[in-house]
Amino acid sequence: MVPVFVTDIIKKLNNANYESWVVGGCVRDLLMNRQPADWDIATNARPDEVIKIWPDAKYENIFGTVLVKVKNDAGETEEVVEVTTYRSEQGYADRRHPDEVRFEDKLEKDLARRDFTINALAAAPLGDRKFIADKFNKIIELDNEAWELVDYFGGEKDIKQKIIRAVGEPSERFKEDALRLMRAVRLACQLDFKLEPKTERAIVKLAGGLKFIANERIRDELVKILSSAQAYRGLVKLEETKLLQYIIPELLAGVGMEQKGHHIYTVYDHSILALKNCPNADWRVRLAALLHDIAKPTTRKVINGENTFYNHDWVGAKMTRKIMTRLHFATADIDKVVTLVANHMFYYNVGEVTAASVRRLIAKVGEENLRDLIDLRIADRLGSGTPKAVPYKLRHFQYMLDKVRHDPVSVKMLKINGSDLMAELKLEPGPKIGAILDVLLSEVIENPKLNTKEFLSQQAQELNKLDLTELREKAKSVIAEKREAEDEEIKKSHRVA
Ligand code: ATP
Ligand code: MG
Repeated sequence: MVPVFVTDIIKKLNNANYESWVVGGCVRDLLMNRQPADWDIATNARPDEVIKIWPDAKYENIFGTVLVKVKNDAGETEEVVEVTTYRSEQGYADRRHPDEVRFEDKLEKDLARRDFTINALAAAPLGDRKFIADKFNKIIELDNEAWELVDYFGGEKDIKQKIIRAVGEPSERFKEDALRLMRAVRLACQLDFKLEPKTERAIVKLAGGLKFIANERIRDELVKILSSAQAYRGLVKLEETKLLQYIIPELLAGVGMEQKGHHIYTVYDHSILALKNCPNADWRVRLAALLHDIAKPTTRKVINGENTFYNHDWVGAKMTRKIMTRLHFATADIDKVVTLVANHMFYYNVGEVTAASVRRLIAKVGEENLRDLIDLRIADRLGSGTPKAVPYKLRHFQYMLDKVRHDPVSVKMLKINGSDLMAELKLEPGPKIGAILDVLLSEVIENPKLNTKEFLSQQAQELNKLDLTELREKAKSVIAEKREAEDEEIKKSHRVA
């Protein structure tokens, strides 16, 4: 379905005697019966002429794109549609931006600058226009209306055959703009298409061009791959095309690395399979599945003839932070994925997990990450070749989570707060208050019955005698770092994990 606000723009331009088409990815999506993510319009009107029609439109670049603001079809929110003057691009000395952009009069020129044949299509409602047939156009039906489809490069056929093929000479096109290397793999993955052999060979040959591309653009493509239905296929393709070494080279250290124990796959294959089996559609959980064992190669030690990977969860969390920071991910996303990777070994053996250890886990990972952590664990189990995700153990764990649901697991849930402390202990605002609350929480997590105003006030009096460093040490030794004991448990239970 093409929204009316889009066809209206085309009609307005036509009424002013300009050509105008929806172009690129949205035409591809329309022909495939997919809902386009965004709408792009191309026109022979120059930017200043477009602005005459929409005076409050924005023109803030030199690339011919005017941002036209219109109401959406429900008349509620505002949509921004990119209306771009036909243009061609010359010279890509830096492998990412054209040295020169030239406005053109012919649609063909504008379509020729596009990356893949399936993205080089244009379409417009025929309306009152007279259809002049040539080799490159035809009438199609869209939304019960006659539309003209323009296809100079065989895009329609490639859509039917599910092929990603560069427009023109693949090597040339990838040299111009190396982001196209990753767009090819991303589109193949999103649309479930194959790379045309010559196009794929050019990608492999020119993979190193990705070095010239801004990390945030690589990140955006990676997120699209991770969010697609067959994300793992995208990762497999990134590796096959040699692009992965310029995106997350750390993953490649696990290639061919045997594990033993309950793992029948190498570290690398297991990472990809964990992604494949991740039952969660959130790209952040999927990224955690891909990266959860990222530190296995660096932490591997052979003890008594067996592979061990002690601390790979914590080292892996650090590596994950480094990788995601390098790729310019948002802080909240980094924190979430790092938390998942750091805690993917959480202990949940029936009969051995105590309510206190479950509360500690919740305090550590946050209520909002629990479901995702469980999904990561399922991905990990399924991806290691074990037949089942031990549903019964997970069900028991879920039961434990429900059981402690109303127990205090954060400072906010304590029956005493910062202002109480300041009043009772005559303290000035400062870090000491937070430190005292942290110690109180650590005690309440072990025993929720202690969460009473009387007990906490009395305990705070005692704690106030300690200085800040001592308080922090105390909080650490109780809360986060019950870890040592837990680590011992993990080591005992599955030496190889
Ligand atoms: P999406 O589904 O993510 O919107 P898309 O193919 O529509 O995918 P856009 O970034 O919206 O991608 O770009 C719209 C169109 O602009 C593309 O279909 C393509 O014709 C053209 N295009 C985008 N990026 C490039 C590029 N790097 N090189 C050449 N053409 C490009
Ligand atoms: Mg698009």
